[in-house]
Amino acid sequence: MFGGCSSINAMFYVQGNSADYQRWYDAGNKEWSVDEVRRCFRKSENLQNDETLKDPKIRAHYGHDGPLIINKVNNTFRSFTDKVMEAWEEIGFRNVPDLNLENVMTSGRITVTAANGVRQSTDRAFLLPVAKRTNLKILKRSLVTKVLVTKRLKAYGVEVERNGKKYTFYTTREVVVSAGSIASPQLLMLSGIGPVEQLRDKNIPCVVNSPKVGQDLQDHCVVPIIIHGNIPDEENALNTHYDNLNYLVNRQGVLAQSDMTTDAMAFYTTDHNASYANCQTSLTIYPKNKSQLFESITKIFRYKKDVVDSIVEQNKNHGTYLLIYNFLHPQSKGNISLNSNNPKDSPLIHPNYLSDPRDLETVVKGLKMSTKIVKSKYFKSIGGFLGRMNIPACNKLVLDSDEYWRCVSTNLVSTLWHPVRTCQMGSDINNSVVDSRLRVHGVKGLRVVDASVMPNTVSGNTNAPTIMIGERGSELIIEDNTKCGLKCISEQIIQEILEHKASKIKGI
Ligand SMILES: Cc1cc2nc3c(=O)[nH]c(=O)nc-3n(C[C@H](O)[C@H](O)[C@H](O)COP(=O)(O)OP(=O)(O)OC[C@H]3O[C@@H](n4cnc5c(N)ncnc54)[C@H](O)[C@@H]3O)c2cc1C
Repeated sequence: MFGGCSSINAMFYVQGNSADYQRWYDAGNKEWSVDEVRRCFRKSENLQNDETLKDPKIRAHYGHDGPLIINKVNNTFRSFTDKVMEAWEEIGFRNVPDLNLENVMTSGRITVTAANGVRQSTDRAFLLPVAKRTNLKILKRSLVTKVLVTKRLKAYGVEVERNGKKYTFYTTREVVVSAGSIASPQLLMLSGIGPVEQLRDKNIPCVVNSPKVGQDLQDHCVVPIIIHGNIPDEENALNTHYDNLNYLVNRQGVLAQSDMTTDAMAFYTTDHNASYANCQTSLTIYPKNKSQLFESITKIFRYKKDVVDSIVEQNKNHGTYLLIYNFLHPQSKGNISLNSNNPKDSPLIHPNYLSDPRDLETVVKGLKMSTKIVKSKYFKSIGGFLGRMNIPACNKLVLDSDEYWRCVSTNLVSTLWHPVRTCQMGSDINNSVVDSRLRVHGVKGLRVVDASVMPNTVSGNTNAPTIMIGERGSELIIEDNTKCGLKCISEQIIQEILEHKASKIKGI
């Protein structure tokens, strides 16, 4: 899909904490200092929120002339969100105007990759504006099945399958793999770059024994907290018609939001000495008897019918506040392995959530910090209570006890679709897949540039950090392929534009 997950994601624009990138740098990845990383975030960004731009600190934090437009959503449930934000403030999650600037023990409205009610995916922001460049060819509905590597271990092209036909594309410079954290390690393994035993097992000739390909998978796992209250009341048909018109005429309202209608989130830590958050929670509000709640929890979490029914049943007569608790820095690791040597076979994903016992204990602490909100003035005023989800193994446990949350977490843990590390960067082939310039260890002319290269999880959602990796990665590619780096390329682009203009004048 054009734009990959940025075309279907929930659009939250979260940069993570500087401490995350300091860890990348401290691990020996010298191209990724906090300053470089922040510069690359700004390079992409074009913040268009009039309100927050008035604040000089926020203004300075973001970029303003990049291709990626970011803004806040114009949320339909703002009056309720504001009340929950007051409740967060009461339990110690301070309200701040911008969560990318202050993201430890804070809460606030989210920034999103959307503008004027339209999603700003990476293809819309970066690819489509340059689609007509003469040096760019975009192929739709094409599956890269193999990276071709010479006996001297230099990548020289890719094999592609398209409409049942096989094609080979050759390169004089480099192959750049950006297939994401699941498919990039798969493609490397299909090309003979991966753990030798796995390759042998799938009858793939080993080109380079790279033991870390597909290993150390880490993901943000989530557990839902459901709070019910007397409001928001049921919507009527008039609201729905108004929503449709509001979007068609103004590009505003419920249809201009992410399908989760999330407007606010909080970052907090279970370790009071930590300089970055290990927990994140996002708030989504459903009025009474809202069919979208059923759709959301079925689609997002894919829980069993009993669990879904118990949530939906209570929503019939109550407004529902869904807090999605997200565990930011797990110790548990999983892996991606090949199902077979057929590129059309999905790889096997073993997330191993909560397999490290330390994780479960942190998750329980984090969940209990969040549920304190039920005792806040707002939730008391609306008869708020914690919803019990129907999980047979947990039904006899005392609601909100440690045992209860341990049981709920192990039964309902799910993904926030933030897999990273499966082609992580690092110093050598035994601890990583690519070096700090994103070049695959052991093969010349081959890079990976996507979420999979992150050497550790970030304190927030992964789209913005992945776009930043794209910015930094492109700089590294230019530096390594031209004697004079960026300066040379800008001269090349000017030359290209001049030639393009000349050809138009000549009518070629
Ligand atoms: C449902 C969902 C919700 C999310 N919500 C958010 C959010 O709100 N905020 C946020 O920050 N992050 C969110 N994320 C995560 C975020 O979108 C991803 O971290 C980010 O998009 C990863 O980018 P990527 O380029 O590494 O990989 P991808 O986005 O996966 O892109 C990889 C691309 O490569 C293509 N591809 C793969 N294999 C091949 C092949 N062999 N040949 C040809 N093409 C191939 C894929 O089709 C895809 O287009 C969400 C993700 C999902 C799935």
